[in-house]
Amino acid sequence: MQYHQYFPIDVVNGPGTRCTLFVSGCEHRCPGCYNPGTWNPESGHPFDEAMVEQILNDLNDTRIRRRGLSLSGGDPLFPENCAAIENLCRRVRESCPGKDIWLWTGYLRENLTPAQERILPYVDVLVDGPFIAAEADPALAFRGSHNQRILTLA
Ligand code: SF4
Repeated sequence: MQYHQYFPIDVVNGPGTRCTLFVSGCEHRCPGCYNPGTWNPESGHPFDEAMVEQILNDLNDTRIRRRGLSLSGGDPLFPENCAAIENLCRRVRESCPGKDIWLWTGYLRENLTPAQERILPYVDVLVDGPFIAAEADPALAFRGSHNQRILTLA
């Protein structure tokens, strides 16, 4: 998996102060996408073990308390990303007690593949569905358009 950006301190993408990872790779191609530079799964930087360790360390940093991890993109559930995202989420669950995981995807919850479904047990909140410009509303919290759903899983 490749990623575009990592913010160790973020107060925009999800509730509270968080760590946020924007991964590469998305096949939805929503007109009006806020981040089309992430569509190419080969773009960005390699997501390696050092990045996993950095995220775990940041989540456990007691100097700045983070509420949890936000996974966005691109699409964390892009098929080629699923193994790395599942591993990251599992590591967060094992090593960062009390931290939540929010995940944004352009897929619909009911259409997920088995590989995508395997990630859900680690996810507290899934924000699903493509961005639809005709339903866009800048007043919405944590989503761009009215069709997108904030699904509490845990
Ligand atoms: S799912 Fe998100 S990243 Fe992918 S095209 Fe749609 S808005 Fe852009």
